Amino acid sequence: MVTKMVQINLKTKDIHISNLAKLVSGPNAILYKDEDLLAYDCDGFTIKRHLPRAVIFPKDTHEVSQIVKYCAKHNLPFLARGAGTGLSGGAIPLNNEVIISLVRMKRLLEIDLENRRAVVEPGFVNLKLTNSISDKGYYYAPDPSSQYACTIGGNVAENAGGAHCLKYGVTTNHILGLEVVLPNGDIIEIGKNGIPDAPGYDLLGLLTGSEGTLGIVTKITVRILKNPEAKQTVLAYFDKIDDGSKAVSDIISSGIVPAALEMMDKTAIEGVEAAAFPVGHPKDIEAVLLIEVDGITAGINDQINLILDVCQKRNVREVKAARDEAERGRWWANRKTGFGAMGAISPDYLVQDGVIPRSKLPEVLAKINQISEENGLRIANIFHAGDGNLHPLVLFDSRIPGETEKAIQAGSECLKACADVGGSITGEHGVGIEKKEEMRFVFHDHEIQAQTDIRDVFNPDYLLNAGKLFPAPGRCAEVKRELK
Ligand SMILES: Cc1cc2nc3c(=O)[nH]c(=O)nc-3n(C[C@H](O)[C@H](O)[C@H](O)COP(=O)(O)OP(=O)(O)OC[C@H]3O[C@@H](n4cnc5c(N)ncnc54)[C@H](O)[C@@H]3O)c2cc1C
Repeated sequence: MVTKMVQINLKTKDIHISNLAKLVSGPNAILYKDEDLLAYDCDGFTIKRHLPRAVIFPKDTHEVSQIVKYCAKHNLPFLARGAGTGLSGGAIPLNNEVIISLVRMKRLLEIDLENRRAVVEPGFVNLKLTNSISDKGYYYAPDPSSQYACTIGGNVAENAGGAHCLKYGVTTNHILGLEVVLPNGDIIEIGKNGIPDAPGYDLLGLLTGSEGTLGIVTKITVRILKNPEAKQTVLAYFDKIDDGSKAVSDIISSGIVPAALEMMDKTAIEGVEAAAFPVGHPKDIEAVLLIEVDGITAGINDQINLILDVCQKRNVREVKAARDEAERGRWWANRKTGFGAMGAISPDYLVQDGVIPRSKLPEVLAKINQISEENGLRIANIFHAGDGNLHPLVLFDSRIPGETEKAIQAGSECLKACADVGGSITGEHGVGIEKKEEMRFVFHDHEIQAQTDIRDVFNPDYLLNAGKLFPAPGRCAEVKRELK
């Protein structure tokens, strides 16, 4: 009996896999053996794992469309995947999906300096865009700390942010047009030619940040910016975390909008100094701010002086300016590798992603400290302080029974603390599977229903990336749509 079932399953699987394989060109364009699929059982959210049915690598939009049409016809769940750096489990194949990996679609299709835009395929890595145009004096502004690996398709799906989004805005502010394969396989273009305020609904806004639940992005037109004439970067060290937090609010309310305003607390400093890119931060301080200003050369010193003034009023211990581009680069490497650096001081860590009004920073950081003590787990904070986007990093050891659950609980309590002061449960990492239940901290059932109704228009058979973004069935609209 058991043998018979296995044979039937294998046979069914083989039919779909061999049919799907015919839709893609090139060698190794589909993976289906368990040992190959293991690498795709999670993304950057490693707490939950599920094996996909297969991973398929289309080379162009036509192949994506053919795969999607096949999946739709045969009722096979499927989802898109970029680099798999997502931190909320958006690319985890909860329903044994066929994963459509966009990594072969990685070309820079067009650079149009005159109109300040570029066209890329979805698998194009974020940092490569800036690297491709920097010699001409241009760059692409959204700079997630994962920018050396994550794809622009994944950035669109997550509406990714980054350190410099304080001044320049997040991904949605830089997307001018998209080509999208809908869940029935149709190909549509939205935001044609980047014309502002195009007629009709703002589908660009809707698709950006929809976490891969409305369609598969296959081409992206992005805005590119001219390099600022000058920039200056400073580190400010504070003995008291409250002083550092208040300095953040004071800097913004003084009228300056720094290009970046990042903060790390004492535990975070311990981590980054123990990892690959130490820069000699004092270990006895409670907070460091990494502040960058940019613009025309004539205005830079005034901005820096104003910032110095604010920091002094908040009892800063020391402020130092980067002496050259190399030092600035080291400071940014220290900050941008901060999440991974937690591996130097803890076997495991869970990254959280809440947003609060800046003025609530002291209150919420104190609450996070309390959550840490109550749960008996250390929590480091590395975050985009200027826009109130917190990243509490819950440190834990998954080998200790019950500690993973405790870390998840502590992470959820941090998000509740953000929601309770009028903030939100995600600033840039998305909801995915991780924060589905926490959506209830910020939305009523009928508000969730309004959103799932929109999803159902695009994704009526719920085959694309099911079980993500919205709470489980039982208390709201999701009752209508059980997972397949
Ligand atoms: C060390 C580290 C630092 C990070 N720092 C930041 C940060 O500063 N700011 C920030 O915003 N994020 C950050 N992230 C999170 C992550 O890098 C971003 O969410 C990124 O946008 C994910 O891109 P990806 O290509 O890895 O997408 P994936 O992880 O592969 O996918 C993410 C989601 O997008 C969907 N998707 C992927 N490609 C497509 C497509 N072409 N069409 C439709 N849907 C698609 C997937 O189905 C999934 O739901 C960080 C992650 C790590 C590991």
